[in-house]
Amino acid sequence: MRETAVLPMLLKQLHLPTMSGLWEGLNKEAVQQGWPPARYLTALCEHELSHRDNQRLKRNMANAKLPRGKSLATFDFSAVPSLNKSQITAFASGDVWLKNGGNLLIFGPSGVGKTHLAAAIGEKLVESGYRVLFSKTTEIVQKLQVAKRALALPLALEKLDKYDCLILDDFGYVQKDQNETNVLFELICERYENKSFLITCNQVFAEWDKIFVDKTMAVAAADRLIHHATILELNVESYRRKAALARTNQIKGSEL
Ligand code: ADP
Ligand code: MG
Repeated sequence: MRETAVLPMLLKQLHLPTMSGLWEGLNKEAVQQGWPPARYLTALCEHELSHRDNQRLKRNMANAKLPRGKSLATFDFSAVPSLNKSQITAFASGDVWLKNGGNLLIFGPSGVGKTHLAAAIGEKLVESGYRVLFSKTTEIVQKLQVAKRALALPLALEKLDKYDCLILDDFGYVQKDQNETNVLFELICERYENKSFLITCNQVFAEWDKIFVDKTMAVAAADRLIHHATILELNVESYRRKAALARTNQIKGSEL
């Protein structure tokens, strides 16, 4: 049959690799089961689409640069009684806050699980089809500074627009410096009421003039971030310290 010879070439030309791999097997099944042609074509298209979705998800997960092994499943909510698990689960599904360009700000001292929680929410967002980028704030600031020096800051900011959620970890670690804080401020303005931030920070707003050039800029930045934001405060004992202590006690116990 002429079609049998031509079809593989057509599918290749049309860049339909999944259909290419499946058409013959499904064709046999369709003939055996007496499927109408539309059902056969639909089955092939569905396979192609679901394969593409999977590939996109894998690509998005790799591009998100999330730290490994930090998922909601491994987050111990009992260690942070102030957190509402169902609220976090709702955040992790994305829908409302990302559509409205809202922000999520996670505050707390070192070791309380801010990075873990941010990464875990990020992972779920990617699984729900959103585009996410996780970065230490200092690293993204450095990249934007390089772009600014090359007079390419607008383009660099625009490229970040493709991410529904930008996770800026350790926002408070940015050193006060005229150039650095300018690009961070410009990034905040670029995304305001449009695209979301998930920020972790160990400094309360009152100390943000240590991050930004002056108080006015610190207030303007905080204003924009808070405007459509949910703020979570993790004011518990350091999980890191607690875990280390538990390990030490275990060792001591076994030595007795
Ligand atoms: P922070 O960013 O607040 O300094 P991290 O998220 O880096 O803290 O947490 C420190 C370590 O403790 C990480 O290995 C993290 O996975 C773990 N951790 C912190 N809080 C929790 C928690 N509630 N459940 C499980 N692991 C946690
Ligand atoms: Mg951290």
